[in-house]
Amino acid sequence: MNAEILKANELKKVAPVFGQLSFDNHEQVVFCNDKDTGLKAIIGIHNTNLGPALGGTRMWNYESEYEALNDVLRLSRGMSFKSAITGLNLGGGKAVIIGDAKTQKTPALMRRFGEFVHSLSGKYITAEDVGMETEDMDIVSEVTPFVAGISEEKGGAGNPSPITAYGVFMGMKAAAKYKFGTDNLEGKKVLVQGIGHVGETLVKYVSEEGAEVIIADINQERLIEVSEKYGAKIFEGDHLYDLDVDIYAPCALGATLNDQTIPQLKAKVVAGAANNQLADELIHGELLKQKGIVYAPDFLINAGGIINVYAEIVKYDRAEIIKKTENIYNTTLEILTKAELEQMTTHQAALKIAKNRILAAKK
Ligand code: NAD
Repeated sequence: MNAEILKANELKKVAPVFGQLSFDNHEQVVFCNDKDTGLKAIIGIHNTNLGPALGGTRMWNYESEYEALNDVLRLSRGMSFKSAITGLNLGGGKAVIIGDAKTQKTPALMRRFGEFVHSLSGKYITAEDVGMETEDMDIVSEVTPFVAGISEEKGGAGNPSPITAYGVFMGMKAAAKYKFGTDNLEGKKVLVQGIGHVGETLVKYVSEEGAEVIIADINQERLIEVSEKYGAKIFEGDHLYDLDVDIYAPCALGATLNDQTIPQLKAKVVAGAANNQLADELIHGELLKQKGIVYAPDFLINAGGIINVYAEIVKYDRAEIIKKTENIYNTTLEILTKAELEQMTTHQAALKIAKNRILAAKK
C-alpha cells in the first residue's frame, strides 16, 4: 500500500464521518439502530437552504458500513443539486437501510424506520429508492407525515418511477438532438443497464419511438419479462461497456462511469436514471468530454420523480408535473450548450447553476 492510501486510511479512523471522502459539509448525519427489528439505517441531510431535505430511502446489502455511509453522503448531496436545478424549494437528503430488501425488509422494520424519520420533525422527508416499494412508504406513513410516494389509496401519488423515466427520456432526446442533430431515436441503438422501476418504463418509451434496445440486468427473470414485453434484446457476454451502441442509459446503481469503463465506451451519448453515475465527478466528467461523449447530467435528467413527489406534498397537479418534467428537455439542451460555450464539463455546468441557487437562498 502506498503512503497516500495509508494516510487516507489513518484519517478515516480518526475522522470516519466528517473526514469521509464524500463528506461535503452535510448539515446532519443520523445513525439509526433498532435491536428488535434489526434496523440499521443512516439518514443524510446535506443542505436545507431551499427547504426540507427530500430524498428516497435505499435498501441495499452494503459490503461495509463505510460503503453505506459513502452512498448516503453522495446521494443526499446529489438531491440538493437535483432539487435546486429543477427549481423546487427543497433541500437534499437521502436515507440508506443496510440489508437485503428481499429477505430482511419487514413491516416492523419499516415502521421503526418511519419513527426515526419522524424524530427529525420534517427536516427530512422520505420516499422510494432502490429496494423500496409504494407499500413500504404506506407503512412509513402510519407513523409519520414526512413521507411521499405513498399509494393513491392512502392519498398519495404512487411510485414516482414512471415520471422519472419520462424525464430521463426527455433528457435523452435533448442529448441526442445535441449530438446527432435530431431528437428522433428511431433506429438508434440504446443500451439500458438496469431494468427496474425506472429502466423498464424507459425501455417502453425508447422502443415505442423505434429505437433498437439492448437490456442488461443481474435479474434474469426481469430480463426475460421486459424483453418479451417490448421486444428488447438481452445483452449476453462479458463486455457490456464496449458494446457498439449510440446511447448508454445507466439505470441501475451509480459510479458506472469510471477509469475502467469510459475508455471502453463506444456510445456517443450517456443519458440514464442512476444517481451518481460519475465515480469522480471532476475526473470522469472530463474524461467523457475528452472522448466527445455527450453526458446528460444524472441529477438534471432524473428529476421527474422528485417533481412528482414534491407535488404530492404541496399540490398535486398532473398537468403541471408533466409540463415541468418535459421542461427537462429544454434545460438539458441549455446545459449542454452552456458547457460547450464555457469550456467546462456538462456536469460542472449543471452544478454551477444548482450551487448558485442554493447559495442565493442562504443569502
Ligand atoms: P430498482 O431497484 O427498481 O431497479 C434497479 C435495477 O437495477 C434492478 O432491476 C436490479 O436488478 C438492477 N441492477 C442492480 N445492480 C445491477 C448491475 N450491477 N448491473 C445491471 N443491473 C443491475 O431501482 P429504480 O427505482 O428503477 O432506480 C434505478 C436508478 O435510478 C437508481 O440509481 C436510483 O437511485 C435512480 N433514480 C430512481 C428514481 C425513481 O423514481 N425510482 C428517481 C431518480 C433516480
